Amino acid sequence: MEIRSKLSILADAAKYDASCSSSGIQRKNVPGGLGNSEGMGICHSYTPDGRCISLLKVLLTNFCVFDCSYCINRISSDVKRARFTIEELVWLTMEFYKRNYIEGLFLSSGVMKTPDHTMEEMIEVARRLRVDHKFQGYIHLKAVAGASAELLQKAGLWADRLSANIELPKQDDLDKLAPAKTHEQIESAMDSIATKIAEVKEDRKTLKSTPAFAPSGQTTQMIVGATPSSDADILATASHLYEGFSLKRVYYSAFSPIPSGDPRLPLQKPPLVRENRLYQADWLLRFYGFRHHELTTTDTPNLDLHLDPKTSWALRSRNFFPVDINRAPREDLLRVPGLGVRTVDRILKMRPHRSITLADLAKLRVSLDKARPFILTADKNTGVTLLDDQNLEAQLLPKKPKQPTLFELMGESAEGW
Ligand code: SF4
Repeated sequence: MEIRSKLSILADAAKYDASCSSSGIQRKNVPGGLGNSEGMGICHSYTPDGRCISLLKVLLTNFCVFDCSYCINRISSDVKRARFTIEELVWLTMEFYKRNYIEGLFLSSGVMKTPDHTMEEMIEVARRLRVDHKFQGYIHLKAVAGASAELLQKAGLWADRLSANIELPKQDDLDKLAPAKTHEQIESAMDSIATKIAEVKEDRKTLKSTPAFAPSGQTTQMIVGATPSSDADILATASHLYEGFSLKRVYYSAFSPIPSGDPRLPLQKPPLVRENRLYQADWLLRFYGFRHHELTTTDTPNLDLHLDPKTSWALRSRNFFPVDINRAPREDLLRVPGLGVRTVDRILKMRPHRSITLADLAKLRVSLDKARPFILTADKNTGVTLLDDQNLEAQLLPKKPKQPTLFELMGESAEGW
């Protein structure tokens, strides 16, 4: 089979993995080397037909000995198969890179023969790129489920980022749909990577020449909507992974129905807004001091699709408000709908110099519609009387979206909530 045909099959098969994104890594060129990675990160995005436009995101092969029901590449799937040789993949990466098509490589794979055999081949691709071609671009390698800890330690020597996918939120889900996988096994891979990252970080404090190990950390992916597991389950697992293995990111990937799929799987994708709400909730866990159990309730274990999770929490927690913008500690300000991390930090810097009013918040581009019912300011904020209004929820629902102009977009705050 021609390389072009293999690429078409294996790049298409890789689009289901959401666990690669911006890298945040800096890697300078070396004498005789090629390229570099910028600290602002390698951003990749998908065109509507699923192509990755800045990382070469591809599988080594879509043959797989496993039979995970939700996966298009499972052994029982009737798809066209292909496999790159190591040489082909190295050549392709270098040629794409030299032509400025890509800034790096995201490499995953179906499992050929054994997890160790597959991992060895992926490591060899990365090793040849780094050693034989002095490739200084970004490399993200998938940690194959079940590969040995020794191989994962080797992989991190060449890769900027590693990711072991947790796949589904609960072990029960895996038992049903991917019985060959266990959370224990996947977490053991994450643990081995996290331990090595921490060790190398420590060693490099005293011995600068210690070789780097996955300097951009590790990520994981969780498929959403393949099983009835709730957002509460998903966020509990994400929280456990952040705390236990210092993950950089958990990626939430809406389940895509696959042709001739397992009848236990849903026939429809979950709404995209569910994925968006999970990302918003994830930010609240990582940067806003929320605990996962605060974001849902026993009665409503799924996030509200109509309101962002912070506003939903605020409506359920009215006793916590109003928060005094001029006196409250940072952790309380972060809980106010409409205040993002950067805005809160600006407020804290302003406070020693002036008493903050609604007009000041407007200048900071705070969404006053969202924030006013929950805050006290130095002037008279009449909006706070809405806090006890039974119709407050209806008033906070997003207005019908309108297409923003280019100039509105340019002036918009990056932090909307
Ligand atoms: S091991 Fe990976 S590639 Fe193979 S069937 Fe399962 S999810 Fe798909």
